[in-house]
Amino acid sequence: MKAKTIIQKLMKIYPSELWDFKKLEDPFECLVWTILSQQTTSKNAEVAFEQLWKKFNNIQKLASANRTEVSKLIYTAGLSAQKSNYLIKSSREILKKYDGGLKAVLKKPETEARKELMVLPGVGLKTADVILCFAGGRDTIPVDTHVFIVSRRLGLASGKTVSKVKAELEAVIPPKLRRFGHLLLIQLGRDYCKARNPKCSICPVNKFCTYYQGI
Ligand code: SF4
Repeated sequence: MKAKTIIQKLMKIYPSELWDFKKLEDPFECLVWTILSQQTTSKNAEVAFEQLWKKFNNIQKLASANRTEVSKLIYTAGLSAQKSNYLIKSSREILKKYDGGLKAVLKKPETEARKELMVLPGVGLKTADVILCFAGGRDTIPVDTHVFIVSRRLGLASGKTVSKVKAELEAVIPPKLRRFGHLLLIQLGRDYCKARNPKCSICPVNKFCTYYQGI
């Protein structure tokens, strides 16, 4: 109930363009975007994505791309040598293994699909869940650093690992609110619940927050 109340409150505060969009519905685009956005800001990932997509806008092109060239194009996203490697290797692996590309993986039962996605280079639990959630329409909640910190402070979860926090959140957030919840908790983390200095006194959900109530 508390989780639902918090998410619904955030849905009223934030404009829907921030938490209800369709831009990650293509699975390959979603994979590329999520790898680029690892350990960087959305702004930096967006610049890198735009640069990359001008030249390599499908899986065939990226699978046969030159690593140095890709690395230069995605420079703003950081870790560009590693990320270009992931992007090219994942593209090659998908082409080799699946006739229907990632769409074929997403047709499988959720647990199986997640397992197969996590075999791809650069794809961990969070990235797999982002693809399942946004491109696969599954009611799962991807847990990134913001979601991890914010949900523990709010008292929606207490686990010390991403998979434990994810399981706790999925137990309290109704399926249809999970995708929005993921995006809204990220936004709350960016705007108020910063890792070092959370702005609790002006936070819109402070009256529901375990951390703040305990101060
Ligand atoms: S009240 Fe403070 S700790 Fe709680 S969610 Fe808001 S910013 Fe984070």
